[in-house]
Amino acid sequence: MTSPLKLSGLTKRYGDTVVVDGLDLELKAGRCHGLLGPNGAGKTTTLRLALGLIAADAGTVDLLGQRLPARAEVARERVGVVPQMDNLDPDFTVRENLQIYGRYFGLSKREMIGRIPALLDFAGLAGKSEALIATLSGGMKRRLTLARALVNDPDLVILDEPTTGLDPQARHLIWQGLRRLMGQGKTLLLTTHFMEEAERLCDDISVIDQGRVIVQGSPRELIQTHIEPHVVEIYGDGLNEWQACGSRHCHRCEQAGETLFCYTQTPSKVVAELAAHPGLRYLHRPANLEDVFLKLTGRDLRD
Ligand code: ADP
Repeated sequence: MTSPLKLSGLTKRYGDTVVVDGLDLELKAGRCHGLLGPNGAGKTTTLRLALGLIAADAGTVDLLGQRLPARAEVARERVGVVPQMDNLDPDFTVRENLQIYGRYFGLSKREMIGRIPALLDFAGLAGKSEALIATLSGGMKRRLTLARALVNDPDLVILDEPTTGLDPQARHLIWQGLRRLMGQGKTLLLTTHFMEEAERLCDDISVIDQGRVIVQGSPRELIQTHIEPHVVEIYGDGLNEWQACGSRHCHRCEQAGETLFCYTQTPSKVVAELAAHPGLRYLHRPANLEDVFLKLTGRDLRD
């Protein structure tokens, strides 16, 4: 089966800065692919290149079997896009927003009237058809933006930080919607800063930094390959004294703020060493995708 999206040697420069640097990416049909990376890594630029919204300086983009940029418009007819910022039209109702968007895909008012109930149902907005955008909560707006991306029944849905700014309840509803889309066989490509989101939803992940893919794999593969299986997070009085002796069972230690992250194969030995230090508190947990991400991209702030 052809890949819904294949990027080869993709390169984009702004002035002297190489923002996307020979990037290769191949999505598999019917799966969810996560694009992770710190701020400025080149994720949004990659998505814009993948959609043919900006031109690459080098490399190729094949979107749903069409070579871009020549065939971008044809390819985009089968793509749904959820942008980072909601850009719903505030002067119109929920229904009108869907209807107007349908026009971009050449859908008649009649066709849209047929599709809208299912889209509203998908978004959990069945009773809100005539509501103005300003009266919707942040979660409702995001769900409407997601439903709007489905007006053309796309094969591939591209989502740029679909849950940023949402509370946990609203985030879970979006996740539920995305899982339903995967159940329908659609391919998803999403960027996110939430590692839990990536771990839950994505079959495949590419971590990018400075415009390059630094690792690729399933969440489980990345955790197994790049990080020790256990983490003991330690904080409190006497951390420095403890570190001098107790950290010998840590395979790798990282300090972030007041917390020492102790990555280890033998957590029981680390915890045993902590018993004699009542001033210290700790949390023992399995290593997760965030640990991998921080190891690979560092803990320094990126603006
Ligand atoms: P991410 O989505 O991973 O945060 P972006 O793709 O938005 O990263 O940006 C990558 C880099 O490219 C940043 O340093 C950003 O400032 C720069 N950049 C993005 N768009 C433009 C543009 N239109 N002109 C100049 N620089 C840009």
